[in-house]
Amino acid sequence: MVRLVLVLGDQLTPGVAALKAADKARDVVVMAEVMGEGTSVPHHPQKIALILAAMRKFALGLEAEGWRVAYSRLDDPENSQTITGEVLRRAAEFGAGDVLATKPGEWRLLRDLEELPLTVTVLEDDRFIASDAEFAEWAAGRKQLRMEWFYRDMRRKTGLMMDGDKPAGGQWNFDHDNRKPAKADLLRPRPRDATPDAVVEDVLALVEARFPHFGRLRPFRWATDRAGALAALAEFVADRLPRFGDEQDAMLEGEAFLSHALISPYLNLGLLLPLEVCEAVEAAWKAGRVPIQAAEGFIRQIIGWREFVRGIWALEGPGYLTRNALGHSRALPAVFWGGETRMACMKAAVGQTRDLAYAHHIQRLMVTGNFALLAGVDPGAVHEWYLSVYIDAFEWVEAPNTLGMSQFADGGVLGSKPYVSSGAYIDRMSDHCGACAYKVKVKVGEGACPFNLLYWHFLDRHRERFRSNPRMGQMYRVWDGMEAGHREAVLAGAARVLERLDGGEVV
Ligand code: FAD
Repeated sequence: MVRLVLVLGDQLTPGVAALKAADKARDVVVMAEVMGEGTSVPHHPQKIALILAAMRKFALGLEAEGWRVAYSRLDDPENSQTITGEVLRRAAEFGAGDVLATKPGEWRLLRDLEELPLTVTVLEDDRFIASDAEFAEWAAGRKQLRMEWFYRDMRRKTGLMMDGDKPAGGQWNFDHDNRKPAKADLLRPRPRDATPDAVVEDVLALVEARFPHFGRLRPFRWATDRAGALAALAEFVADRLPRFGDEQDAMLEGEAFLSHALISPYLNLGLLLPLEVCEAVEAAWKAGRVPIQAAEGFIRQIIGWREFVRGIWALEGPGYLTRNALGHSRALPAVFWGGETRMACMKAAVGQTRDLAYAHHIQRLMVTGNFALLAGVDPGAVHEWYLSVYIDAFEWVEAPNTLGMSQFADGGVLGSKPYVSSGAYIDRMSDHCGACAYKVKVKVGEGACPFNLLYWHFLDRHRERFRSNPRMGQMYRVWDGMEAGHREAVLAGAARVLERLDGGEVV
């Protein structure tokens, strides 16, 4: 009997588990563009366009390989506009009772598939370096889950940058040589934009008409197939990887990409695989084309952080999405959706997000994330925003980064302390503060940088939870050492900022 093989929009890998287990001679591949997914949150138009264009090209590739593909286009009149609706429709059409699927990266979709009145076999997504069971085994019995220890195991497992059983260069982590502020550099190599072809243009017109969400659709710069993704990887390794470590945490006005890879959307859709990306980086280091700290720092992001957050998502289950350890409840301020702001760093990060569907890690963590956390925004709303606005956002990777790393909503499962800072960090790592309407050196009173005020407000209101955290004690000692009048003025200033946010006033 015919079986259906479901391939989702972020499972565009020829060897993805369901395709690997399927029989080309008798099974039918089901792929579906549906409004239900495009509007589950208000996804950035560029993200929807990337997924739809990449799906269309992937389906053509499967057909060329001899697969029978039942592909539902968004504007097909019979399209039921949900994934499960399309699976049921195809089951009736082909007389199929069995469905092969690869585990989705979103709990909602997994539950929907499991509830189908068909025999659904959900296979593990084995495009990750660590399996769910392997991560669970690593985590079992540990009091704290820390990326660094997991990462070392992944280095041993993959053999990447290893000298036998020792790390290459004698150290696991070279970060003390990384993370410098960046200098404006007109000769900086900038990533090339892919040129939209006919498939992409069709999709852009469709997205323009159907998804009036936050974010600019054009210019659309992303590659939409494996060849384009491989070209983007090769260009990164040749041009930007040498400075990747140095500039990893830096922010510069007008330089959205700096030395970042811009490959997360391709990895997350399955157009690139994590191991091949790391092998390309390792080869560049072995050939003497990049310094060890750049190669190690990059490989750590992939086999360390990316795998670690995936493990946490799988381990913690759907309940993780509603965690709110700090009890934060403020509505997401309008600035996140492009509302006016006087803060240069927020304006740059949100503006870039609107225009490019991209911001790099430190902008996400130490600008927008830091601001939401210090302001006490409801982590569910923050999660929905990050899931919506970034080209690479899929629940399995976005949720642990947002709820765990950025908002401390998991109470410390992912990180041992909240990522919070005053304006000083942003000033050190960027050139935003110079032209900002606020003064980063002003700690209190008119013109004080809101990060300065809110930072102490956050520490003060969460004193019970954090004062005995060994990594935060020093900051409480600094706070407690300030004159009482100064502390009161800081807290009053922070309260005014929060009031203005709540009243929809420009901050
Ligand atoms: P680079 O800076 O060049 O890094 C190289 C690669 O390392 C990335 O492509 C990515 O695959 C991987 N990587 C680095 N850090 C992480 C991390 N913390 N978690 C997972 N992978 C990592 N990444 C996503 O892929 N999707 C998301 O939805 C997402 N949401 C985030 C939300 C918040 C609040 C924060 C703080 C981070 C989030 N990240 C997310 C992680 C990181 O910001 C992006 O992976 C990175 O900015 C992608 O751009 P790049 O390819 O230029 O990355």
